[in-house]
This record gives sequence, structure tokens and C-alpha cells, in this order.
Amino acid sequence: MSARTAFDLIFRNAVTRSSARPVDIGIAGGRIAAIAPHLACEGTEIDGGGKLVLAGFVDTHIHLDKACLLGRCGHDHGSVSEAISAVAAMKRDFTVEDIYARGAKVIERAIVHGTTRMRTHVEIDPRIGLRGFEAIKALKRDYAWAIDLSPCVFPQEGLTNDPGTEELLIAALRDGGEAIGGCPYADTDPNAHIQKIFDLAQQFDVDVDLHLDFDLDPSWWHMEEVCRQTERRNYHGRVAIGHATKLSALPPERLRAASERLAQAGVAVTVLPATDLYLMGRDATHNSPRGLTVAHRLVENGVLCSVATNNVLNPFTPFGDASLLRMANFYANIAHAGVSEFDACLDLVTDLPARLMNLRDYGIAVGNPADIVVLDTDSGRNAIAELPEVLMGFKRGRQVFERRQPTLFPPRG
Ligand SMILES: [Zn+2]
Repeated sequence: MSARTAFDLIFRNAVTRSSARPVDIGIAGGRIAAIAPHLACEGTEIDGGGKLVLAGFVDTHIHLDKACLLGRCGHDHGSVSEAISAVAAMKRDFTVEDIYARGAKVIERAIVHGTTRMRTHVEIDPRIGLRGFEAIKALKRDYAWAIDLSPCVFPQEGLTNDPGTEELLIAALRDGGEAIGGCPYADTDPNAHIQKIFDLAQQFDVDVDLHLDFDLDPSWWHMEEVCRQTERRNYHGRVAIGHATKLSALPPERLRAASERLAQAGVAVTVLPATDLYLMGRDATHNSPRGLTVAHRLVENGVLCSVATNNVLNPFTPFGDASLLRMANFYANIAHAGVSEFDACLDLVTDLPARLMNLRDYGIAVGNPADIVVLDTDSGRNAIAELPEVLMGFKRGRQVFERRQPTLFPPRG
């Protein structure tokens, strides 16, 4: 660039995943306007210090409406159905204010851990009505300065066996529901459940993101019906399944066949390590299976995958800090990822989930919104290995947080 250009903000000396050398990033009007070494320009400058910048983490699967419930019930839930029942009993008393307060706590943690985009699954049924959805809409509006929140409405406790649920789902889809989910294993007629969800998706032209599996028995599954419906509706690239724990129980040749089927149908897979590890294999007395589908292997076979948070501090998962970098590090460790695969593990919480959500303006590239987070490391590989601090974050060019590095005070003399 020969002439001096005016930018609102310039990151100097920043390392991106696609540049071999540090670059400068110029921001104007909330968007990335230029990326090049040594930009000749004017404007407020931030020294990137040779550190890694990302466009933020993308969480495709979290449940803000039922987060932070520890302390309200016992936590000795040994199975998925017990966790569903425990939350079902509590959610009758949820108010919009209560859901908002718990969701805000998790969103704020996610923001300071560098998440800039998020799909939250919202339970819709006659017990909770639209209270969860109302709270999520308010959170979406109130935190738009820091994160893009996208509600995916879904029936956690069944659809065909739960009168009134479909009408409520339609009301939510008319009023801002951006995707539809489902939970076939919670329905007395799983195939009819899947079909109905696809009917509604087509009717409202929204993507589908289903909860699937939650056991380790690969002798039966609903995956084929999901692929079949995806092809029938021409929904290639618009469907995801979460958990898919049965895939973790397949020997290599069957896993290859299953991944070819998913890739062919254009069905993506979201792996939820914290929940899958917590709830799977609990009946084993020793040598417990991990119950975690190895997503980066599926990616090698052409399946679009993401790793996401799922539940935070509730009967499904009594852990959580909403950090996707920590989740990717956790995933890499459990999945026996080699060092040469660490970059692929970082992809699972950045570029790939952005593709899964069909976000076409994600990434450190000219023209995209200036969503930028700075990590205290110098490469994608080291981000997974070292679990560095996320030092600062920007949304559409405006700074949203800063984390100060710790200071050591050695004794004098
Ligand atoms: Zn979930």
C-alpha cells in the first residue's frame, strides 16, 4: 500500500493461521479492510506482539437455558434419562428472569474465553412454554455487542408424544428461531419425530441440528433416517447431528462406511466431549469406554465436524467454563490426537463450526466483520498444546474484553 490509508484500528505484528510471517490488520467501519505486512496507515494501533489472532471461537451447540443448575438438585444422575428427568422437574419453575441470569453468566464467560458466535439450543414444550425462548431472545439482543447468538429451538422431551409442542415450535420459528433441533431418542416414534422436524425446517427455511444417539450400541441407529431425510429434502449442508456417540463404538471399516454415508448426504457431526465423557460408559466397572467420536478422523473422511460445549454445570455435565479452547485441548487429549493433528483440532472450534452454521462472513479475511481474538501463543498447534490465555477480543472492530497477564513478584535481594 503506497498512500497512507486511514483506519479506525490497526493490529500490528499479528500472526494469523494462514500467514507464514506476522501481518498488520487494518479495520474500518467494523470490518477488516486490509491485511498485509507493514501497512502504511494512520489510526489507533495495537501491538499484536507476534501473537496468534483468530476470528473467535464458534460454539455450535450449547444449552444456555439449562446451564448453572448445580445446587438446585442432587447430582448423582447416572444416565441421560435421569438427567432429562431432573431438568424436566426443575424447568416448570424457570422464569424468564432466572433463565436470563443463568444464560448471561455463561455468555459472559464464553465472551472472555474468545467465543464470538454461538448456536444455543432452546427447549420448547408445554412445561417451559416460550419462557426459555424469550430469555434467549433478550440475551441475543443484550449481548449483540460481543457475540452473535443464534437460537435453535427443539423439543427435548419428545414431539409426537407431547401434545402442544409442535404449535409452540411453530410460534418460536415465527418469532426468531433461526434453526430447529430434535431429540428422536426421547420420542415414542423417532422416525416420525425426525420427519416432523424436517417438515418444519423446510416450512420455515431453517437448518436442522439434531441430538442423536447417547449410547454405545451401534446395532441400531437413526443416522440413516437423518441422511435419508436430508437427501429427500435436498438439505445437503444444512443438517448436523450432535453427540453421535454410536460412531465411537464402530470398528474402523464400519466407521469409514458411516462417514462416507454422512459425507455423501452432507450431514455434519458435532462432538460434545464433556457430556459424552461424563454420561457414556458409566455401567463399566473398569476399562470404561470413552464414548467420544473422533471428529478429526471423520473430517479426514470428508465429514464436516465441530467440537462444542453442550451443557455447563447441570445434571448432564456438572463441569464447564464455556471455553472452547479448553474443550479443543480436552478433545485432543481424549481423542489421542498427535501433535501434527493439533491444527485440525483447532479447526474443530473455529473454521469448521462456522461452516456447519453456514456463516459466510467468518474468518480473518478482508471484508469480514472485524471479530478478532488474541491468544498468548504463536501458532494454532501451540494453541492446542499450551492452552494459552485469550488476551483480548474485538467484535466488529470494538474491543469487548481484555485479560491482564499475571505478574510474578520474586523476593528482592
Ligand atoms: Zn445438547
